[in-house]
Parts: sequence; C-alpha cells; structure tokens
Amino acid sequence: MVFMRRKLIVGNWKMNGSLGANSALLDGIIAGVRRNDCGVAMCVPFPYLAQCSEMLRGTPVALGAQDVSAHQSGAFTGEVSAEMLCEFGCTYVIVGHSERRSYHAESDEMVARKAAAALGAGLTPIFCVGETLEQRDAGQTEHIVYRQLDALLDAVDGRELARVVVAYEPVWAIGTGKTATPDMAQEVHQSLRERIARRNVTVAEAAIILYGGSMKPDNARELLGMPDIDGGLIGGASLKSPDFLAIVDAA
Ligand code: PEP
Repeated sequence: MVFMRRKLIVGNWKMNGSLGANSALLDGIIAGVRRNDCGVAMCVPFPYLAQCSEMLRGTPVALGAQDVSAHQSGAFTGEVSAEMLCEFGCTYVIVGHSERRSYHAESDEMVARKAAAALGAGLTPIFCVGETLEQRDAGQTEHIVYRQLDALLDAVDGRELARVVVAYEPVWAIGTGKTATPDMAQEVHQSLRERIARRNVTVAEAAIILYGGSMKPDNARELLGMPDIDGGLIGGASLKSPDFLAIVDAA
C-alpha cells in the first residue's frame, strides 16, 4: 500500500511575542491559510496559549506548545502538564528541541518521557532530533539521530508511535541561516524512516517527518519536494506572516 502523507507546517515562536504582536501575526496567518491547504499549526509560549487558543478556534490553524512536563501533576514548580495544554486547546507539543536539550540538559530518556506524557493526554508530540556541526563533521549524524529516536521507540508502543510527528533539525541549521541541502536532509529523513520501519513498517510509511533549520520561502519548495520530507518546523520565518504563508503555500 502506498501512503499519501499530508504535509504539515508548524511554526515555533520560541520566546517571542506580546499580546499585540501575536494578535497582528495570527490575524495575518488566519487570513492567508485555506482549509484545504496542508496541515498548519503554531507552537506559542505558555502565557499566550489562552489568547492564541481563542484566536485560532474554528480556523484551520492548530495550536501547540513548545514543551511539556514528563509528570502528570504535583510538586514540579514551573512545569506545565500535558492535561493543562489540552485544556487550552493544544493539539501539538514540541519535545526535545535542541535548545531544550542543550540549555536545559534534557536527556534522550527525559525527552522520550515527555513524548509519552503528551501521548497519554491525547496530544501529538513533535519529537525533535538532530546533530551538532561537530557531530556531523565527525561522521556521527546517523548515530546521534538514531540514539535520540531509539529512546522514543523504546518508550512507546506501535499504536502510540503512529501518533508522533518526528522533526529532524540539524542543530547547526537552527536560526543560523544555514540550511541542510535537500539531499542532506533527505538522506537523514530516509534513515529515520528506515529506523522506524525496523520496529513497524506500516507506522514508518505513514510517519510525518518534518525538517527544521532555517526553512524560508526561498528554500522551502525544494526541501518539501524531497520524498521523505513531510513538512517543516519553522522558527524565524513563523514570526512574519508573509514568510510563513509562503512556506505553507510551498507545501
Ligand atoms: C526551530 O527553532 O525549530 C527552527 C527550525 O528555527 P529556524 O527556522 O529559525 O532555524
């Protein structure tokens, strides 16, 4: 059976925004996204979930958060649970973004537990993997992304895995303006799909694998044209509605 994977474009605002700026940005995005486009979602900072949930209700743009606790509730000051994200209308949550792995020392196991917590609450985790430039130069790309992905594969069963979105984000391409060439990205995406297929062929064929790392209007079409690139996780370009919409259009 041949799977038609629907493309998905997800914005990641990171720690940017204000009530006024969010309102203007989402107005622009909502006005430009058509219902039969690819899937579209925006992952926003926690304090703005209520505002964005209100604005996105009834639109084709889904809401997501940028992190989630691995715990369900209790004495975890500063953390936000998956159930809480659901209450604010989130569909997606990013886990294991390289900025969290490096600045907050999140281990592979911790990220996998966060993904499992998200799945348990009915959210779709966007599970990020990616190598640093040093690791790529040392020929370790596959080893690193397999190690990160394996933590997920060991933590969830096939049914849960089918609900995960994977994002390949080479660390050296995030926010740097440097993009993996379509061939470089395709090679890693294909390897990731093959790795999933070792556990479950059907899930692997249907798995949505996003590329992230300086995806912009001028490189999106080529990247999104590769057979194993099913969409994008967009940082900088998600903060400008014309740029974000141009990427949605390319998808
Ligand atoms: C990201 O933060 O996930 C990302 C891909 O950022 P940028 O598009 O700015 O490189």
